[in-house]
Amino acid sequence: MAKKQSGKKKTSGKKLSARKAAKPARKAKNRKTAATRRAGTDPKRVAAILEKLAEAYPDANCELKHENAFQLLISTILSAQCTDVRVNQVAATLHVKYPKPEAFAYATPSELEQDIRPTGFFRNKTKSIMGASKKIVEEFGGEVPRTMEELLTLPGVARKTGNVVLGTGFGIASGVVVDTHVQRLSRRLDLTQEEDPKKIEQDLMRITPQDRWIQFSHQLIWHGRRVCVARKPRCAQCNMEKLCHASDTTV
Ligand code: SF4
Repeated sequence: MAKKQSGKKKTSGKKLSARKAAKPARKAKNRKTAATRRAGTDPKRVAAILEKLAEAYPDANCELKHENAFQLLISTILSAQCTDVRVNQVAATLHVKYPKPEAFAYATPSELEQDIRPTGFFRNKTKSIMGASKKIVEEFGGEVPRTMEELLTLPGVARKTGNVVLGTGFGIASGVVVDTHVQRLSRRLDLTQEEDPKKIEQDLMRITPQDRWIQFSHQLIWHGRRVCVARKPRCAQCNMEKLCHASDTTV
């Protein structure tokens, strides 16, 4: 009768020594990654990046036109997967037709859907706008709440929208707006290794001073729209070229 084989495979002495030899190399690689990460977020380097952004975009601001925090909230909801230019076009007539939260809260859904249709995803956006407006009217006395905790209870509002409303609408630095531009640039500039917006925001909040969070978000977004564009960054026009660690620079 054949002897029962154990589940474990026998490993030859040759293979074992090869594996032992590979260990230090892996450790060295890990050390290098950690060192690179530290270099990317070195306080002096981060300060230099903040300075360059401030130099290039001293007047950076939110490009969604609005007259108050409520209009900004509605426009920010509309801006998902849509350009600010298109949102501004739609919002111009929208806020005349629906001048207060009550008007959105008790609108006819099919009519509101058609009013915001050019911004895309109009059915979901209608649900979010009506739900958020209803809650503002019925639970917050018709006023946009001023804390992230409360804003996050509104339908269609996640941290990005909350940060836009608090930062631009009220001047409250609650965090860093992480949109598609901030997501791309903070990785290209080696300020984070993360891909999840929530984790990127935590990293950016950790390495930048709170009194720069609002402006830093605007400046990164402006840089992402004007110079560090997605497909082919215009590195020759970038004042951070010497600081940049991106693998896809074009100079
Ligand atoms: S050097 Fe190029 S990739 Fe780096 S931040 Fe500037 S534009 Fe973006």
